[in-house]
Amino acid sequence: MAKINENFLKLPGSYLFSTVAKKISAFESANPGAQIIKMSIGDVTRPLVPSVINAMHKAVDEMAAAETFRGYGPEQGYDFLRAAIVENDYKSRGISIEPDEVFISDGAKSDCGNIVDIFAEDNKVAVCDPVYPVYVDTNAMSGRAGEFVSGKWNKLYYMECTRENGFLPEIPKEKVDMVYLCFPNNPTGMAAPAEYLKKWVEYAKANGAVILFDSAYEAFITEPGVPHSIFEIDGADEVAVEFRSFSKTAGFTGTRCAYTVIPKKLKVGETSLNALWNRRQCTKFNGAAYVIQRAAEAVYSPQGKKETRANIEYYLENAKIIRESLAEAGIEVYGGVNAPYIWAKTPDRMGSWEFFDYLLEKTQVAVTPGEGFGPSGEGYIRLTAFSSHEKTAEAMDRIRKTLK
Ligand code: PLP
Repeated sequence: MAKINENFLKLPGSYLFSTVAKKISAFESANPGAQIIKMSIGDVTRPLVPSVINAMHKAVDEMAAAETFRGYGPEQGYDFLRAAIVENDYKSRGISIEPDEVFISDGAKSDCGNIVDIFAEDNKVAVCDPVYPVYVDTNAMSGRAGEFVSGKWNKLYYMECTRENGFLPEIPKEKVDMVYLCFPNNPTGMAAPAEYLKKWVEYAKANGAVILFDSAYEAFITEPGVPHSIFEIDGADEVAVEFRSFSKTAGFTGTRCAYTVIPKKLKVGETSLNALWNRRQCTKFNGAAYVIQRAAEAVYSPQGKKETRANIEYYLENAKIIRESLAEAGIEVYGGVNAPYIWAKTPDRMGSWEFFDYLLEKTQVAVTPGEGFGPSGEGYIRLTAFSSHEKTAEAMDRIRKTLK
């Protein structure tokens, strides 16, 4: 008889976004005509920019002619895109990365989730709390998280991100083997200074740990001096893997393209993780679509850069409106300067679900309760800057008036 991977049975239901959706639809049924504004969605709303669309059209036409048609592409991604990434995302920042250290994929979610394949089951894994849930659930699925007891996995090492530590978790006192870091962070919206990342690189070197660095939101960094890549830190190429995505940078959430950088210097014992990941990808992945990789390449053209930058600025303007409006309403706010997420403290010690219900009821604005991202998210809500200016301003107006 076939047996299943029992680790899947240990997973709690993904209650967060489904509960949020259910509560919104229950409210809509009870209040027909209510104009709900969703500040809860972590998805972009601006369309793909003209440079990207033109590149896609051109690539589609290539696929229509026998002379230019492409079948299976390289599992690691086309050279033109790997070269553009190296040139624009790394070389331009003084970072030395080779094209064969870049692996193109269909998403950072897939890469963050699949990377666990190349690590042993008995590795000790550290995650932030609150956290992007993919790191936790994929380790649970592959048997590295233990049992889910009272809201936590008993084999994971949770690193609390609180206002007391500026949402930069303390370096573990004990030895861990794999560390997930995400900066700028989802959900807190906070970025990490170089000095802080340097400590992680030192820790990883001293303990033989691998840092899995998710910089899906690097394009939102506005403050000078904040690293866009872990590889800006000396020695990080010996201890870190970096995940990047075109999703939030260039509106590719529905188009799907991302990449993972694994330096050849990064070794676990004698084994190169670059070689291991290459082996894994060649077996389990058949490459991202040619048309989409041409679209991603266009993000790096001078015009593509200008156009995608304008969209990022658009979202950052929303983030500013959210920050300022909530502060005016007496709410403590974090993030939103180097990220499209704003992490806000609930007033009067309200629970995060309680404040969610209150805002939905009184203002018809939907947010995400912080507790859904982990126990330390209790007492916070997350708002996103991905809406339109008009809806963002309207939502903030309602909240300001209600809380005053
Ligand atoms: N990493 C983080 C921190 C995210 O918040 C997200 C999406 O919300 C992803 C990765 C997923 O990116 P992609 O769309 O490339 O799968």
